[in-house]
Amino acid sequence: MIKYSLVCKKGHEFESWFAGSEAFEEQASRGLVECPFCGSKNVSKALMAPSVSTSRKKESRAEAIRQLGARPAAPVEGEVLPPAAPGPVALLDENQQKLREAIRELHAKVTENTVDVGEKFAEEARKIHDGEAPERAIRGQASLKQAKELLDDGIPVLPVPSLPDDNN
Ligand SMILES: [Zn+2]
Repeated sequence: MIKYSLVCKKGHEFESWFAGSEAFEEQASRGLVECPFCGSKNVSKALMAPSVSTSRKKESRAEAIRQLGARPAAPVEGEVLPPAAPGPVALLDENQQKLREAIRELHAKVTENTVDVGEKFAEEARKIHDGEAPERAIRGQASLKQAKELLDDGIPVLPVPSLPDDNN
């Protein structure tokens, strides 16, 4: 059984029980549903408050996503790239918090599984590639030019995004 809020053509609101949505449609079309106030058989389901608030929620969520999309993306810089000047710190919303969390985890993983060679990153990456240094995962800093040269020579480098206020 479903309880429907109903409204007649004169705007009287009342509630009634039905076996289901189809039962209501059938009974209403046969003139079996009457307004208890005026006897009108022109009765339809009233807009339920929960469904209204749900659609409002969806609207505001869509609005939030639109605003998020319109906002300039958070600066993502790589450790192999020269750090950009830190921009103004904006209030972080939930999505940005999650992004920061993901970047933090990535950092932890990279830090745990790589050897820090610092400024010698480009040199060391090339040595490993040429077999002059033991093969291992390394991390460090490289200039944009160095990173490009490595990539041009087929040496894979992966820029790790860093947080604006969390540079190593
Ligand atoms: Zn009525």
